[in-house]
Amino acid sequence: MTDDTSGLGFETRAIHAGQQPDPRTGAVIVPIYQTSTYAQDGVGGTREGDYEYSRTANPTRTALEQQLASLEGARHGLAFASGMAASDAVLRSTVRPGDHLVLGNDAYGGTFRLIDKVLTAWGVTYTVADLADVDAVRAAVRPETKLIWCESPSNPLLGIADLSALAGVAHDNGARLVVDNTFATPYLQTPLALGADIVVHSTTKYLGGHSDVVGGAVLTNEDEVREQLFFLRNAAGAVPGAFDAWLTLRGIKTLAVRMERHCDNAELVAEALAAHPKVAQVYYPGLESHPGHETAAKQMRRFGGMVSFRHADGEQAALDVAAGTELFILAESLGGIESLIEHPGRMTHASAEGSMLEVPADLVRLSVGIEDARDLIEDLRRALG
Ligand SMILES: *Cc1c(COP(=O)(O)O)cnc(C)c1O
Repeated sequence: MTDDTSGLGFETRAIHAGQQPDPRTGAVIVPIYQTSTYAQDGVGGTREGDYEYSRTANPTRTALEQQLASLEGARHGLAFASGMAASDAVLRSTVRPGDHLVLGNDAYGGTFRLIDKVLTAWGVTYTVADLADVDAVRAAVRPETKLIWCESPSNPLLGIADLSALAGVAHDNGARLVVDNTFATPYLQTPLALGADIVVHSTTKYLGGHSDVVGGAVLTNEDEVREQLFFLRNAAGAVPGAFDAWLTLRGIKTLAVRMERHCDNAELVAEALAAHPKVAQVYYPGLESHPGHETAAKQMRRFGGMVSFRHADGEQAALDVAAGTELFILAESLGGIESLIEHPGRMTHASAEGSMLEVPADLVRLSVGIEDARDLIEDLRRALG
């Protein structure tokens, strides 16, 4: 097996990219290099590419970075301690005081908080726009705009942005398009191939896939961005430990089979909800009634495992459903093998209350797991009453 896996299929790259058997022992699985430091050949004699200190680089982390870069079709991958650490590094390496950025109107709450509370205090301004509306994004762009920050599908309303069109708007203005690809994963969508400049992940979600690790990653083809991110990560220190990198590396090996089942189940759940009298509206890009369905079909392999819906009887009824399921566990986060349910207005998106990112009070969000779909639908029917 050579190092070059670029011509191979997705499932093969997930298992082999960056993961050759250990040259000393033949261990098939990349070891957890649980070490902070490395013996050097001589004073100042470390060769380029060798390891010195694990904040700077660690072999288990390197394997994860090569695997992720291969799956996103990127030249460079960098792993971080969390999705927010990855987003923070991208923001602080690509915008400066006085710069402006455009952000989606249902951005991840933590990303909104970071931009709204931390970056604005540093002299960065932003405009919130509906990213599904390319003209609205173009109108929001200013001469000092350096970034368009996009999630597609978005959270929690599963909005779809046309990534090639947004890349065009960004590039016409000398700005970059950043795509948070956490909801789609590289199995369903590869934004760099559609013109995006930087991809960000919370590997905590589908990539890790088992709700047992927090992590983040950034992928890019730009050498300059990679250098700035590498410098900042080493300077600021938001690195994942070797065991966390290893758990994520292991999770990603089964990403393709997990995503197929997540998509199968989410489609069935979305259809069952759409036919239920207590459900006022279902948000799932796989439904033909979804306004972004055609764009999603053009840029995604399938439609993902996240489904949101509005309860016909209002907020209290939505809260009762969120608290009333048995298999769907009431919890924040998403993308694990087990199904989760939550009320965005009071949980994940509570910090957006009163802002342009406020979500409907009767909204319920599901992360549809890989259990038997019949059990999941029965659980929701029971809770809906
Ligand atoms: C969870 C999440 C993040 C933040 O990632 P953490 O690993 O929790 O820091 C960013 N974007 C999206 C879309 C997410 O779902």
